[in-house]
Amino acid sequence: MDWQRLLPAWARRTATRAGALPPPAVPAALWQSTVALYPFLSRFTPAEDAQLQLLVAHFLQRKEFSGAHGLEVSDAMAVAIAAQACVLLLYWGEPAHALRWYEDFVGIVVQPDDVIARRKVVDDAGVVHHYNEELMGEAMEGGPIMLSWTAVQPGHALLGAHSNVVIHEFAHKLDLRDGSANGCPPLPAGFMGQHSASAARQAWSAIWSPAYQQFREQVICHERFGQPAPWLDAYGATDPAEFFAVACEAYWLDRERMGQELPSLVHALDAFFQRPPEH
Ligand SMILES: [Zn+2]
Repeated sequence: MDWQRLLPAWARRTATRAGALPPPAVPAALWQSTVALYPFLSRFTPAEDAQLQLLVAHFLQRKEFSGAHGLEVSDAMAVAIAAQACVLLLYWGEPAHALRWYEDFVGIVVQPDDVIARRKVVDDAGVVHHYNEELMGEAMEGGPIMLSWTAVQPGHALLGAHSNVVIHEFAHKLDLRDGSANGCPPLPAGFMGQHSASAARQAWSAIWSPAYQQFREQVICHERFGQPAPWLDAYGATDPAEFFAVACEAYWLDRERMGQELPSLVHALDAFFQRPPEH
């Protein structure tokens, strides 16, 4: 079923500009098959599920998918990506309001497979090093999101049980919303009872900085001395931005276990994502 064509292209453009026309609902069968593929999407209440579907419909109205290297992005692929991207926005109210977090970009480029990118770094001695990096996804400020379809599908060999490349890249977009990828996204008014933006950032930092340092030490002890691996993906030890993105993956995929492993981060993410307290 070619769902995107339910609304003609001109109508999509008009709706996007004017924000007037409601988008077509995601067909039930397509939604059910998406939820079946990604079990963490099936744990929401009926009201949350309805909100997520609404967000997805609005997301698809605003974003443009393109396949690289001849990949054709099917409706099922677009809905799978949109559903996981919109999970992050679930408790942020009206779709038009919530989707402002993603308004700095329109394009989502889907690669058939992981991408080898040529990277360059200059070390402290001024020596230039070139290396290859395998990317499953990429998010840049003001630019499109890139995703490897191999990595988006369940069961990627390099991804653990609470890893999710779509949530990872869209978490970077949240972090980048204030212009810098530093692991501290713009915080909601009154975040954790704080009365000013700077106090909110301090409260955030007081939780995340020690957690990041402790995590880095755990990763080093695991890699060098064979101590048990930390629960979170070790990639989070790269820098605070990656730590935030990896923590968001774990939060949405297995919040309960994360509450046992990293309760302070769950507390902060509950406040950031504005998760209702009755959950
Ligand atoms: Zn990342």
